[in-house]
Amino acid sequence: MNCSPSSELRQLPAVDKVLGWSRVGRLVGLYGRTAVRVQVREVLATLREALQRGERDVDWGEESVGRAVEARLEMATGGQYERVLNATGIVLHTNLGRAPLPRAVAERLVEWSEAGCNVEFDLAAGERGERNRRLSRLLPLLTGCEAAIAVNNNAAALVLALATLAAGRAVILSRGEMVEIGGSFRIPEILEAAGCRLVEVGTTNKTHLEDFERAIDDETALLLRVHPSNYRVRGFTERVATPDLARLGERFGLPLIVDEGAGLLRGRSEPPFADHDSVEEELSAGAALVCSSADKVLGGPQGGLLMGQRSLVEACRRHPLYRAFRPGRLVYAVLEETLRRTLAGEASVVDQLWPDAEAHQARLQRLLQRLPEAEIVEVEGYVGAGAAPDVAVVADGLALPFREGWVEALRQARPPVIAYRRQGRILLDLRTVHPEHDIVLADAVLATRPR
Ligand SMILES: *Cc1c(COP(=O)(O)O)cnc(C)c1O
Repeated sequence: MNCSPSSELRQLPAVDKVLGWSRVGRLVGLYGRTAVRVQVREVLATLREALQRGERDVDWGEESVGRAVEARLEMATGGQYERVLNATGIVLHTNLGRAPLPRAVAERLVEWSEAGCNVEFDLAAGERGERNRRLSRLLPLLTGCEAAIAVNNNAAALVLALATLAAGRAVILSRGEMVEIGGSFRIPEILEAAGCRLVEVGTTNKTHLEDFERAIDDETALLLRVHPSNYRVRGFTERVATPDLARLGERFGLPLIVDEGAGLLRGRSEPPFADHDSVEEELSAGAALVCSSADKVLGGPQGGLLMGQRSLVEACRRHPLYRAFRPGRLVYAVLEETLRRTLAGEASVVDQLWPDAEAHQARLQRLLQRLPEAEIVEVEGYVGAGAAPDVAVVADGLALPFREGWVEALRQARPPVIAYRRQGRILLDLRTVHPEHDIVLADAVLATRPR
């Protein structure tokens, strides 16, 4: 077209005119008028820019514009979540959604979601029930708490507890526990958001009971303990034991709140859990309220748990913020099922780190037969989600010779496989892959092998 840019600009069709073209009108039926209008506007804007840059051969014909609009609509609506095979050995991989659900629980999601679900309905009485009633029956059996409620995550649990029990007042915390977890969870900022004033006591490596006692005054609402989870102070360190802190609180009528974080409901004696005080231990040591994540060691859906004295849990449940933080029915259903399985002694998701030796070796051998280039090497697995980042659990895994672009190609496979490069090799940790996916994994390795 041999006109000047400005006259061409004037010839560009208007959005409504394009919407009337039959090539575009067909898309309205598929995607809805609003979606199509948004993309038509975008396509016309890029054409306008091209003309303004003085580009030649800019095509604003019906077929060309229609094709561009359709491509944009497909891109905008096509992205889907997909199953990713996690061969990293990090069980609670935050970028992959933390705890995978047990197959038996995941299968019931259909039942809980496609029709109604009695999340808040008492079927026996035929009247409105309480969302947390089943948790309040199960969690006492596991932790010894009097009552419990669930919210959307641990951060929400802590904010709710602080806002309910300490808004406008002071909260005392050791400087050794002023942590940042997962990038945006920073204890001082959480306190501020909940409307509390932070009173720091002690030092980074040592805090004594007297430090807490000296800081208590009329403004103090509670004592806080936070599990440092993702870091450790070594050397000369000292922290006040929970029973001592709880007793101090009792003397002054102040509750002790513990942010346990990991969701380790009952104590375990093996590393990396051996030195982690469980919810049950914290409560029996005198904590009035404990908050935990449901999707870490517990292996449930994303959620936060508040467990402890009935009067405090009830106060949190009545706070207006609870309504903003409460989870939906799928979370409650999955959470309840997870707790029932835990109570029945079923293995937790983190037990994947210690597979049955014989079955694990058989698995590796089967894969070696399919993957002639692979060999068996020791790999390091981790709990993940910030819990015990320095405690590796070693097991046999698979190593592939390093080839440029292989790790990236595996990530682009269908389904994507997340492997990692270590010491000049590509490592695959099978502990975090469901055994049923072994063949798919092997096929992906073979299909993506760079020549
Ligand atoms: C993980 C963790 C949190 C944050 O939990 P979310 O469920 O991600 O909100 C808070 N405190 C501690 C001690 C943690 O370990």
